[in-house]
Order: sequence, then structure tokens, then C-alpha cells
Amino acid sequence: NTRVPLFGIEIDRLRMAEAVNQLNIWLHEARTTTAKFVVTPNVDHTVLLQSSGPLRAAYHDADLVLADGWPVVMASRLLGKSLPERVTGSDLIPALFAATHSTEPLKVFLLGAAPGVAQKAAVNIHRQYANVQVLSTYSPPLGFENDPAENNNILARIAEVQPDLLVIGLGAPKQEIWIHKYRHQVEAKVAICAGATIDFLAG
Ligand code: UDP
Repeated sequence: NTRVPLFGIEIDRLRMAEAVNQLNIWLHEARTTTAKFVVTPNVDHTVLLQSSGPLRAAYHDADLVLADGWPVVMASRLLGKSLPERVTGSDLIPALFAATHSTEPLKVFLLGAAPGVAQKAAVNIHRQYANVQVLSTYSPPLGFENDPAENNNILARIAEVQPDLLVIGLGAPKQEIWIHKYRHQVEAKVAICAGATIDFLAG
């Protein structure tokens, strides 16, 4: 798995199916003390990166960096470092759910989106993917990122159910900075920074 340097970050040269395979491998490994995490840069994020040290650090330490936007893929081609295709967070998560075929259900926690939205998404997920189980959802209050007690509350809610996968829909760059800061305390195997994917899943 090679990485392509672009806009000051390193992007994984992976197709959607390859990213899903990699995630499935991680999701079936034993739990470790650090959650692996996935980011999906688009051009907006690459602009934010230039002025945000914490976002750059998060991108640097991410386990998978996937090109969300066509412009990122186009730029890679113009620069002769061609990425095979775009892999958006909002396509990746349904593709991962559809590819879950082990005997154990995939256990998921949905973090973020407005109150009520993630519960709606959970109903749709259960209807559509027999082998995916949404264990819990939580919509943190405004300004949660600056409140240590609230961050402990989020971590405790995740630890209580021990999901395989944490879907984080807190918007960029908040979600990337949050998982980077707390990845050693998040009791999930894999976290995906998902932008508005929870909203899409809610329909
Ligand atoms: N969001 C949230 N808490 C916040 C900020 C955003 O739950 O403090 C949610 C918002 O409700 C939406 C998602 O994050 O479901 C994505 O937001 P946005 O479209 O701004 O992010 P992007 O897709 O541009 O990363």
C-alpha cells in the first residue's frame, strides 16, 4: 500500500474495494489500546491544513488517508502521481456495511450529527444491513470539544459498549482533531471521520 504526497499530506493509493478490505482486516483483529483512524481529505481540508497544526498532525498520524474529492484525484493525475479513484467517506461506510459477512455482527457507535439524526440512521442501517448492529448513538452538545467533562462522557459512552467501529460525524476539522487527541482512549478498533455521512444514512 503506497502513499502519494500531495498538498503536504500523504494519501493512500487505494481503490474503494481495497480500503474496505483493509478496514475489514483491522475490524477482525483483537482490540488494541489505540484506535486506528481514517480521514478522507477533500480540497477544503487541504486549505484548512495550511493554517492548522493540529489538523496536519492528525492527517500525519492517520492510518488511512483516502481522497474524498474529485479535485484531489485530478490534482494527483496532473502531478503525475495518479490516485486510482475517489473514496468518499459517505460511500466507504455503506460499502463497508455491505461487505460485512462474518458470523459476528459488526458493532457500530454513531457519534455526532444533530440530536435524533443518528437514531434515524440506526433504524435505516438495521433495515438495510442484517449483519450490522448499531449499539449506541450520541450527539455531543455545542462546544463539547472544549469541555473536559463532556469529552470524558463521550469516551465513557464508547467504552460502555466497546464497538468495533466508531463513525464520527462532527464535521471537519473537529472530527479529525478529536480522534487524533483521544485515539488512545477511544475503545473502538477503528474510527472513520465521516463528515455528514450520518445525515446521509438518516435519509
Ligand atoms: N456536527 C456535530 N457537531 C458539531 C459540528 C458538526 O455533530 O459540533 C455534525 C453536523 O450535524 C453534521 C456533520 O457534523 O451531521 C457534518 O458537518 P459538516 O457538513 O459541517 O461537515 P463536513 O461534511 O463539511 O465535514
